[in-house]
Amino acid sequence: MQEVHKKENAVRRKKRQQKQKEMKKRVMLLCMVMFLLGVFCGKIVFAKEDAESVSVSEVVSSKVRESDEDRVNINDGRVVLAEDEEDWKLVLVNSTHFMEDGYTPQLAEIENNYYVDARIVEDLQDMLAAGRAAGLDFWICSAYRTMEKQTSLYENKVQRLMQEKGISYEKAYEEAGNTVAYPGTSEHQLGLAVDIVAKDYQQLDDKQANTEEAKWLKEHCAEYGFILRYPLDKTEETGIIFEPWHYRYVGKEAAKEIMEQGICLEEYLETLN
Ligand SMILES: [Zn+2]
Repeated sequence: MQEVHKKENAVRRKKRQQKQKEMKKRVMLLCMVMFLLGVFCGKIVFAKEDAESVSVSEVVSSKVRESDEDRVNINDGRVVLAEDEEDWKLVLVNSTHFMEDGYTPQLAEIENNYYVDARIVEDLQDMLAAGRAAGLDFWICSAYRTMEKQTSLYENKVQRLMQEKGISYEKAYEEAGNTVAYPGTSEHQLGLAVDIVAKDYQQLDDKQANTEEAKWLKEHCAEYGFILRYPLDKTEETGIIFEPWHYRYVGKEAAKEIMEQGICLEEYLETLN
């Protein structure tokens, strides 16, 4: 009799353990679903909020920061900006360093309705003029962007990836970050970056680097305070693919060092610390 009891107990225990295991599995699955849902919804909400936070009409009407309070950290410590007004040229914005929320630089037009931070316009015009005097034909294809513009660029990329690859929104949202900067992490939003291509080759691809315009820019940009921001051999450090057209203003001193040493802005800032 005792033997039978023992067997029954053992069977019951096994069943209980199996049930517990199944419960654990279910809870884990539920947690995962909740987490993914949270991430997914969070991102959508974030993008929408960003889109609404800046109106396009603000592009030209410049808004300068008035007090230090404006530069205080906003939500969850994502924001990293130069603490010193002197350091505005060296502000780091990348996938892990978001720009200040609502930041709008004082803008000035370069040409063809493209605007940049007013403080860099003279150096930029000097650079373009020097290259043109040397017989080159530059074409600016992007400069300052509002948060709204960057958000719509990002969303377009997500939609395109979903269509082309048949992947989920979430997957596409992640992948889009390799080629388009996430809203709030583009230097174009700072007004310190400009995309310059050869007028007779306006493709944004690696071959842009072979144009005379790109070669000249790479060689002379530092003289005017600009750097080639996303070099071919620094994609790991910058998190952005090779962009032979994207030039960033950092000031002449830093630009000289960065271009001469063949480092990227991230590495340069590390040496300063
Ligand atoms: Zn660019």
